[in-house]
Amino acid sequence: MARQIKSSDFEKNNFKIPYFSIFGVFFIVILFSVLWRPLNLDRTVYVPLTPQAETTVNDRNHSSVVDGDEKVEIVNGKPPVVTESSDVPEDEIATDELDNIIDGKDNSVQYTIVRGDTLHDILLRYNVNRNDIYQLTTKFKQLANLRIGQQVSWTTDDNHNLKTFSWTISSNNIRIYEKSNGNFIESSEIAEVVPQNVVIKGDIKSSFVADARKSGLTSNEIAIITRALQWRLDFRRLQIGDKFSVVLTREMHGKSLSNSQLLGVRFKNGTKDYYAILGDDGKYYDINGNSLSQGFFRYPLEKKARVSSGFNPRRLHPVTGQIAPHNGVDFAVSRGTPVLSVGNGEVVIAKYSGSAGNYIAIRHGRQYMTTYMHLDKILVKPGQQVKQGDKIGLSGNTGRSTGPHLHFELHINNKPVNPLTASLPISEELTGKSKKVFLSKVKSISSQLEF
Ligand SMILES: [Zn+2]
Repeated sequence: MARQIKSSDFEKNNFKIPYFSIFGVFFIVILFSVLWRPLNLDRTVYVPLTPQAETTVNDRNHSSVVDGDEKVEIVNGKPPVVTESSDVPEDEIATDELDNIIDGKDNSVQYTIVRGDTLHDILLRYNVNRNDIYQLTTKFKQLANLRIGQQVSWTTDDNHNLKTFSWTISSNNIRIYEKSNGNFIESSEIAEVVPQNVVIKGDIKSSFVADARKSGLTSNEIAIITRALQWRLDFRRLQIGDKFSVVLTREMHGKSLSNSQLLGVRFKNGTKDYYAILGDDGKYYDINGNSLSQGFFRYPLEKKARVSSGFNPRRLHPVTGQIAPHNGVDFAVSRGTPVLSVGNGEVVIAKYSGSAGNYIAIRHGRQYMTTYMHLDKILVKPGQQVKQGDKIGLSGNTGRSTGPHLHFELHINNKPVNPLTASLPISEELTGKSKKVFLSKVKSISSQLEF
């Protein structure tokens, strides 16, 4: 067992005996090799979207350890002073049954590739074990060739370990990656796949999830429907007597369902109708060809700001060796700087909350959540609807914070991701020829969606 070396030993320069100097250097070398490996694993480079959005990001390969809101430099090999993480609000954000389905918590997920996706990011968003992601994507380089509109699906165990992954290249060409003895093995199914067009209709009698299941929709199909309409329809506002109807293509492998593609869905919520119709680009639009997606700002400030502490899910406590993640990005801004909502959404929490200080959480659609901490002032109330760019607060230094800054987090499917690099939804309209093609498709699909 190694002798416990305290930072005070170093500061007081207690190592005057050569034996201990050598021992000290040896200890630091080990400490560095333990620390650096995980830090480098998820090293990313941030490319600003626009010149205005330019920020600086910590290079995780340099000799500093970032802890909460303090950046502690390791100078001359001395161990850093360690403080606790200080961005943990006391208030938890409530989730429901539908969240569990779209978060992939029922261990099986089906996903349609959209522009900007990489397999690594998709699997990470759904909490899949990082080592499995790494193994799969490095062993099978062909998985970098995913195309827009293709479907992938996977199953995990309760500990997020990947069991099987399948990639539908075309309706009769499916690659399957199965884990056996810790390694993924690729096989390919060129078997008969029989596509079936299915129309499913139902009424809301208890909750959308329960009634959708009763009508024969699978968890994956419910998740696809929810994701498609998340920016238009608040699923919690569905009421008894509301209706839904769905057109799907299900690909059957013998008797088992391998993939579903949602062609169109319609909800009748009170007197209002909500549609999502699949376009040729793999995205969903309303019946007029308007995008159902919604844009996000990359960061919640009017002007560029220095990033004083980057996102680091694998941040290690230098002494205990425990993972103490920094789930967001710290922007060095002076007290009173306006903080903006990065997208349209609903305020779910706006209050003082433990070490997070004055704290705001905003839910955007079904998959996205943003949080803002250590604010000087909160300018919104829980339940309030906000628009992208609305001033929601003023930055500050409340809670456990050692200086004025804004701590900002982005969660996708209830998992924190790096807000500076995550792929964000973009709102795009159909124009010209692609709009014409889409509108002619709408006619045939919407006729099947009548109640
Ligand atoms: Zn922070």
